[in-house]
Amino acid sequence: MFLTVPHVPTHADRYSYRDHSPHPIYWLRLDSRSEGREGTVRHREHATHRGDDGFSLVELTAVVLIIGILAIIALVVYTRTSASAEAAACYENQRAFISAVALYQAQNDGAYPSTIEDLRPYIGRTWERISVCPSDGAPLTYDPALHQVVCPNHAPRF
Ligand SMILES: [Zn+2]
Repeated sequence: MFLTVPHVPTHADRYSYRDHSPHPIYWLRLDSRSEGREGTVRHREHATHRGDDGFSLVELTAVVLIIGILAIIALVVYTRTSASAEAAACYENQRAFISAVALYQAQNDGAYPSTIEDLRPYIGRTWERISVCPSDGAPLTYDPALHQVVCPNHAPRF
């Protein structure tokens, strides 16, 4: 079995043969060579290689588009992640208030608090941080029907 191997010129025969190359890229080189100016040859060779010319408008547009799409995807993932983290933190705060209500009842003969302010002594130093929703800082309120502190953004689920 015989395979036809195309002739690939080396650096040595780059400028030594003419009119025999099957490759169009070398035709240009040979044409340039026939002008007899080495400098011109080099210049044209480089111009045929991609990258030396810079990027075309279409290539730049494609790159900018791809980067934009990636940025949008990253933003969506980040937003979703932080939203679920804020919800988890909010429910953790609501849970702390459930404990506070139980403490309040224990010290008040089983009576429930009437406002969220009644729970302040049972929360302590973290009050400022946990009495508001982590998402937008909306104040939590006490729901007398549920006997529970609720958030306007995160419906109670306990
Ligand atoms: Zn919330």
